[in-house]
Amino acid sequence: MKPTAQKTEFIEKPLPPVKHIALVAHDNMKDDLLAWAQFNRGTLAQHHLYATGTTGLLLERELNLPVTRFHSGPVGGDQQIGSKIVEGVIDFLVFFWDPLEPQPHDPDVKALLRLAQVWNILAATNRTSADFIISSPLFVETYPRQIPYFPSRI
Ligand code: PGA
Repeated sequence: MKPTAQKTEFIEKPLPPVKHIALVAHDNMKDDLLAWAQFNRGTLAQHHLYATGTTGLLLERELNLPVTRFHSGPVGGDQQIGSKIVEGVIDFLVFFWDPLEPQPHDPDVKALLRLAQVWNILAATNRTSADFIISSPLFVETYPRQIPYFPSRI
């Protein structure tokens, strides 16, 4: 017999018009992210930027904009960004992960992508999606994002 799925309840936690954007790129994807960020610099300048260590340094140099930097991805930076998603700080994850090269921190990569999904934030894992999201009219509006409601069970 097929088990009955537990029904998840949802509550609204709006995404604000001024976004907190986390940017991460694996080494082979960094040039792509920097080119994307430079092309969209005018828009990015109107939001708050966060990044893993090396990505953040490169972005600060490329854009001449302030970036809140966490540790480098392989030593926990992805996890730090994940925790900021859980805290409700990050609204948009731009994560150019490398599909062609194994990463030592693959579990952290998966965990970060999973949390972006759980918390229903904006997430772009390639330049095409990132371009579509950042140019959407919805991007600068308040958006009625739904998140799962998981009350403590005791
Ligand atoms: P980095 O980390 O920005 O420090 O290179 C990114 C990653 O590899 O997850």
